[in-house]
Amino acid sequence: MTVTCSSCDKNAILKRPKTGDALCKECFYFAFEEEVHHTIINANLFVKGETVAIGASGGKDSTVLAYVLKVLNERYKYGIKLILLSIDEGITGYRDDSLETVKRNEQQYEMPLKIVSYEELYGWTMDAIVKQIGLKNNCTFCGVFRRQALDRGAMMLNVDRIVTGHNADDIAETVIMNILRGDKARLRRCTAITTGTEGALPRSKPFKYTYEKEIVMYAYFKKLDYFSTECIYSPNAYRGFARTYIKDLEKIRPRSIIDIIHSGESLSFKKEVKMPTQGTCTRCHYISSNDICKACVLLEGLNRGLPRLGIGKTHKERRKVNK
Ligand code: SF4
Ligand code: ZN
Repeated sequence: MTVTCSSCDKNAILKRPKTGDALCKECFYFAFEEEVHHTIINANLFVKGETVAIGASGGKDSTVLAYVLKVLNERYKYGIKLILLSIDEGITGYRDDSLETVKRNEQQYEMPLKIVSYEELYGWTMDAIVKQIGLKNNCTFCGVFRRQALDRGAMMLNVDRIVTGHNADDIAETVIMNILRGDKARLRRCTAITTGTEGALPRSKPFKYTYEKEIVMYAYFKKLDYFSTECIYSPNAYRGFARTYIKDLEKIRPRSIIDIIHSGESLSFKKEVKMPTQGTCTRCHYISSNDICKACVLLEGLNRGLPRLGIGKTHKERRKVNK
């Protein structure tokens, strides 16, 4: 039995994961792109004349983000300049291959590309870090370094803003993880569409309400060129647990993802709850809520042969750095 598209009278070829609507390809593209456009407009994400760096890993999220932003920038005349910014963590057999994808995207989307590496910024590749610390806390190092590396790369490029491909599933996962960890400061920040406004560079997530399944579907039907292999150092067990939980909820009730994000957005904290204040690191001068930022603590641990320095009980470890 053929099903008719719920937006036009063509045959439907897919069921939209987010809404369950039966749609033809063209109507799915349009619905997907329009939702991202509305997210951008409602949050006033861009200002005409701005240069925007897209954190590009070669994976599906950032590849679809680059493609859709190019489409919307032309369709709705945002008047922004888009640049691809990639971080090379130095993971042989993974990032070197995914960067090849970004280099092809540079040609396909006619966007300039800048690659900054952990090796040039920190003197360490992830391969070397894993050799020293093993496969347990590697994602802590990688995540902290990547966050700062994106800022540093964006500053080298003199852009006005960074956008990343974090999608609704990622944000819902982060809400759950921050609840489980009792991390109030992150819980409050993680649903914000734009963060970093108090620092040098705002960072936004235009896919905040976009479902991962729809991003995969969009990339698949549009035949976009992206890299889908998992990182070889990937056992981020805690996030994996939150991810499975979200996917299970989604199976029962697709709206759960959006509902978790909305719950995160509507949480408020009593005035008495103490929140860390953002300042700058006395060593590297990038944004930090401590005197010395996490990246500098981790780096010092690596350089002193004490790689556990920044892992675990932060206060105790920071005292060691200050000695
Ligand atoms: Fe880095 Fe971990 Fe992601 Fe691999 S899985 S890129 S080590 S954060
Ligand atoms: Zn620092």
